[in-house]
Amino acid sequence: MTTKRPHHSDADDLNSDSAVYRTLLESTRAIPWKIDWATKRFSYIGPQIEALLGWSAESWGGVEDWAMRMHPEDRDDVVNFCVAQSQSGVDHEADYRALTKDNGYVWIRDVVHVVRNGQGEVEALVGFMFDITERKKTEEKLLALQKELEALSFQDGLTHIANRRQFDASFAREWDTARSQGEPLSVLLIDIDFFKQYNDLYGHIQGDRCIVDIARTLSLAVDSPRDLVARFGGEEFVILLPQTDRTVALKVAERCQRLIRKQAIVHAHSPNDQCITVSIGVGTVTPSEQLEASDFIEAVDRQLYAAKKNGRNRIEAVQGPA
Ligand code: GH3
Ligand code: MG
Ligand code: MG
Repeated sequence: MTTKRPHHSDADDLNSDSAVYRTLLESTRAIPWKIDWATKRFSYIGPQIEALLGWSAESWGGVEDWAMRMHPEDRDDVVNFCVAQSQSGVDHEADYRALTKDNGYVWIRDVVHVVRNGQGEVEALVGFMFDITERKKTEEKLLALQKELEALSFQDGLTHIANRRQFDASFAREWDTARSQGEPLSVLLIDIDFFKQYNDLYGHIQGDRCIVDIARTLSLAVDSPRDLVARFGGEEFVILLPQTDRTVALKVAERCQRLIRKQAIVHAHSPNDQCITVSIGVGTVTPSEQLEASDFIEAVDRQLYAAKKNGRNRIEAVQGPA
């Protein structure tokens, strides 16, 4: 059976419609609100706001309440942005941390629509606040993970010092800097002597341990935060010394050898006191437009080769005044 209401009018329709709309608005997870532009007062805010932030709907008087209930680090940027967008009548959205009544913060995305009157003037702002805390947490976790992965991609898995990729990136950057500043830079290429025999004699695992020990020792031989010790590949290492002339580079090379000698890693088949030793090629250059970075590295590699040929456990440096 249907009941027909007597005296059914348009106004009744409107009233029942707005009741439906209100119920809809107030049952969504997003929080609706309206600000009268002339007075900058809230003419409406969904009661759900209290469940989310703890502040009752009645406590939202004007835009100053909105601004004050925002994380201080977000406030200036967000308020300035929203005011500017509203003034120019542009719909917009902003993410910020809203203060809760118990002094916590909730990440909010505020999506704002600008309502204009018949003359095209801004009359009101209406919007929805969305709780995006979970999304932000996931974003932050992803960002941290991404940073960790990036760091790992520049690290050698065995020794945990920089890898070849990091060296290539740092070297390219320092080369450009040195060229623009007209400063010298130096590179040391270091290769362990008789390492095949070491592996044969003590096994690959012990060989790995030796490589780790040498990496740690070489890291102690440099002192500027811009210096870089990297694993070049296999049992070869490279040291990048920005703003370093030949004299200082040779001192660093000597320090490397001294520290390794002090460590006295036993290598019974080595003719050098039956200990692990290294050969080092040293190069210093003041980069210019005419010089190729790869040619310079090749020149240093030739010095390493010369150190091997001339008896190992030695340092050979590119001749020159630099
Ligand atoms: P040289 O004095 O001329 O340098 O002689 P070498 O025996 O050290 O010769 P070379 O540098 O060519 O040999 C590299 C050896 O290092 C070969 C390889 O088995 C060993 N090697 C390279 N990478 C690793 C590694 O990650 N772990 C271990 N255990 N050995 C490695
Ligand atoms: Mg080698
Ligand atoms: Mg070697």
